[in-house]
Amino acid sequence: MKALASFFAAALALSPLAAHADPIPLANVTQRVDAVTPKVVQWRRDIHANPELANSEVRTARLVAAHLRRLGIEVRERVAHTGVVGVLRGGLPGPVVALRTDMDALPVLEATGLPFASRATGTFNGASTPVTHACGHDAHIAMLMGAAEVLAGMKAQIRGTIVFIFQPAEEGPPAGQEGGAPMMIAEGALANPAPAAIFGLHVVPGVPGTVFYRPEGFMAAADQINIALHGRQTHGAWPWQGIDVISLSSAIVSELNTVAARTVDVTATPTIVTIATINGGVRYNIIPQDVTMTGTLRTFDAAQRETIKKRIEATVMNLAASYGARAEVTFRSSGAVTFNDPALSAAVLPALQEAAGAANVNAASRPTMVSEDFSAFQEKIPGVFYHLGASADGVDPSTSPPNHSPQFDVNEKVLPLGVRTHVLSAIRYLEANAQP
Ligand SMILES: [Zn+2]
Ligand SMILES: [Zn+2]
Repeated sequence: MKALASFFAAALALSPLAAHADPIPLANVTQRVDAVTPKVVQWRRDIHANPELANSEVRTARLVAAHLRRLGIEVRERVAHTGVVGVLRGGLPGPVVALRTDMDALPVLEATGLPFASRATGTFNGASTPVTHACGHDAHIAMLMGAAEVLAGMKAQIRGTIVFIFQPAEEGPPAGQEGGAPMMIAEGALANPAPAAIFGLHVVPGVPGTVFYRPEGFMAAADQINIALHGRQTHGAWPWQGIDVISLSSAIVSELNTVAARTVDVTATPTIVTIATINGGVRYNIIPQDVTMTGTLRTFDAAQRETIKKRIEATVMNLAASYGARAEVTFRSSGAVTFNDPALSAAVLPALQEAAGAANVNAASRPTMVSEDFSAFQEKIPGVFYHLGASADGVDPSTSPPNHSPQFDVNEKVLPLGVRTHVLSAIRYLEANAQP
């Protein structure tokens, strides 16, 4: 009886707002996304043809800011150098949610043969370089611009506020500069208004039309490994007269390759240690004084990350000591684990299924060793990052060119899907979390 009475009380309390509480129908979203899709394709091609490196996304930011202003969205520019933050206040009261895209291109020479292929150049770490959107951020920007247009068009029905974060320098700022997600946060991207949750996406090789992610650790934490070795230069014919840092560097590579293979519980979390560069020496018969080496450490567990850093350092120092050489080891974090909040991962699943079709969403995808500075937002507020399969039609994704390769391309058929996933993840979050 008591339960029945409280049921009626709850029903009465809800009734005045019942009309507003109806979710925005999927058909309305789909119709608006279809209408904006030709523009999204045009934006993507325009941005692709005019790529800009990290912290130099000036033209891109101008395009984005002008678009948001035309839609009546409040705009803050020059956040973390070239970032843009847009705030869309819905017509109905509710919480705040953020949608994020990255904006930077890469120092890569494009070899896609596309009619709108990049011919741009830029300066990377002091050297002139070709510039290409080889990671698909051109598609990300266009999809979020499309989502902003769709959401602005249904503003009156939106229960709460949507923050659009257009972030520079996801691939890392130029040497000696700050940038990316941590700098956007430091400059207020998550304040005034403060989002309670954030969503973001990335195009990757995969069956076009599919969406995949996993709760908890989805993408790895990344640390740059820097090693400097100092020996004693000598003639190549008299190695005993010097300290051979070339030989030492090869011993270090061999030994570090065993760190992940022999000292990590392989049943717990994936771990990678890679040495990618070795620089030293100028002539075939001179053993040089110094060698520098760089590499990357990829982990999924914070404690393990610290343990392996200590192991790497100890390995290098002990080997150097055995040669009589000096060594320095430093690490530079390029981002924590992209950690999808478990509750939010479950909550966003129906919205992603609405957008892509239930059969096309995998919410228990395998983790991936690449990293993403979206993780910085997730360290502040719950967030979910998901991937969109964007390989060409009929191509086996395992053979389609990976992100960062000169042939990387985005199947434009996935552009409306990305707009729908953005729109639906935002409005369904707001509808579920608005006070009745
Ligand atoms: Zn990338
Ligand atoms: Zn990327």
